[in-house]
Amino acid sequence: MTTGRVFLVGAGPGDPELITLKAVRALRAADVILIDELVDDAVLAHARPGVRVVRVGKRGGGPSTPQAFIERLMIAEARRGHTVVRLKGGDPFVFGRGAEECAALRAAGVPFEVVHGITAGLAAPASIGIPLTHRAAGHGAILVTGHAGEGSGSEPDWRAYAATGLPLVIYMGVARAAHIRRALLGAGMAATTPVAVVSDATRAGQASVVSTLGAFVGDMCAARLGSPAIIVVGETVRCALPAVALHMRHTSLAGL
Ligand code: SAH
Repeated sequence: MTTGRVFLVGAGPGDPELITLKAVRALRAADVILIDELVDDAVLAHARPGVRVVRVGKRGGGPSTPQAFIERLMIAEARRGHTVVRLKGGDPFVFGRGAEECAALRAAGVPFEVVHGITAGLAAPASIGIPLTHRAAGHGAILVTGHAGEGSGSEPDWRAYAATGLPLVIYMGVARAAHIRRALLGAGMAATTPVAVVSDATRAGQASVVSTLGAFVGDMCAARLGSPAIIVVGETVRCALPAVALHMRHTSLAGL
């Protein structure tokens, strides 16, 4: 019996047009698709009719599919000779447990490939015209989770990140925004440091606020911004180009 294979595919940040050609090719070849909650169903249009679609939600708050179940299902389907696509939001290797899934597939002897996607931390600032790196605003950027318990330690080292002066791109930060604000102010960051919050970036429901470290939690609540959202903290927020923002938000290749 021939073993199938697994593609770990990033679907991009939300807009179904922000998916790669390689991802589309994998979708076309799929017998089974395991789709994350953050992925727009519109991308399933690239799959063959009759493909088996399994929804494996993993959003904080709601009920999430156990990781072990997802891994077992991918392995079992591949062993049946099927081509499996594991479709994740953004990029599978950015806060996406892609490495864990690769390790499980390797241990099971199942061939796999990773197809990268545009991660939310790059798309969200760009969608409101913020250049994540700008020669006038430092030498890079830091992608960090706001969720304690992700990564090796229990709490991100906010003091160390603040000390770099680099813009912080915070994933999974909404529920802990008040804590993050306190930690960054405590680390000596000025209350006037610009902050942008973008929720549902590149989707129809995209919303954003531009504020300051001192005020962003209140502004975020007032604007009713919720998860999923990216919080950008740093001077680069000042470099926002409103014209780009408008253009990006209303771009649809369908209309061209
Ligand atoms: N692998 C994904 C990240 C998964 S972690 C990626 O590369 O993008 C989930 C977090 O990603 C959310 O809590 C949120 O912080 C962010 N996120 C995902 N999609 C988003 C979107 N469309 N807009 C804003 N933030 C998003």
